[in-house]
Amino acid sequence: MKKIMSMLLVLSMLLMGAAMAESETLTMATNAAFPPYEYYDDETGEVTGIDVEIAQAICDKLGYELEVVDTDFDSIVPGVVSGKYSFGMAGMTVNEERLQSVNFSNTYATGVQVVIVPEDSPITSVDDLFAEGADNAIGVQQGTTGDLYATGDIEEAGLGSVERFKTGTDAVLALTTGKLDCVIIDNEPAKNFVAANEGLKILDTEYAVEDYAACFAKENTELLEAFNTALAELTEDGTVPAIIEKYIPSTEAAAEEAPAEEAAAE
Ligand code: GLN
Repeated sequence: MKKIMSMLLVLSMLLMGAAMAESETLTMATNAAFPPYEYYDDETGEVTGIDVEIAQAICDKLGYELEVVDTDFDSIVPGVVSGKYSFGMAGMTVNEERLQSVNFSNTYATGVQVVIVPEDSPITSVDDLFAEGADNAIGVQQGTTGDLYATGDIEEAGLGSVERFKTGTDAVLALTTGKLDCVIIDNEPAKNFVAANEGLKILDTEYAVEDYAACFAKENTELLEAFNTALAELTEDGTVPAIIEKYIPSTEAAAEEAPAEEAAAE
């Protein structure tokens, strides 16, 4: 009897081992045109960035494989709701509208909506966008909070028009070719876009300060809780701060004088 029991024990351990070796995969939906949070690495051709590295560290801790899916920003929330993706992580701002359909993890970074203009632009502060008689062509990435603000504050207020692009890169391209007066977008990608394109600058005043978090289907509370626990541990042990520091060095932030850095340093 004892022999059978120990054989059964060995057998069940073997089976468990096999199951663990084939660990489950979590799919993360993102929009890989948002450096330094997610973008294609020129050398490897893979999607990399702050969000991808944090998600990878969390999956490693929880024993999941990670698969990153690059999709349009505005199809991330619907895809998470339908169960097509396990979660969404895309420099995504927590807001009331999204909270109607998804749950958010604890926040891991701050984002600031800023305004990119040509260096010689007559727009010198965010307030200029709301001035009486203003009539600007504003570029945004479709479905982002920048889109939401510009639509409400500018288009619906009769202070100009809003053009919606699939990616921030496309919006900035339209700005450089003179088709727009400005682009409203998150500060870190804005810094990347301004560095990559001549003749652009970021206005000193901020449009809005926001919190970034990962989104989950409402019924998927178990995964959300595990994610939050892992995120807290990885923040506590310095892993998450190190990932952020790698992509947004605080020394560089302190050396520059752009408003985005001031906000990041707060
Ligand atoms: N933070 C913005 C939002 O959540 C933009 C995110 C993005 O373009 N990836 O709407």
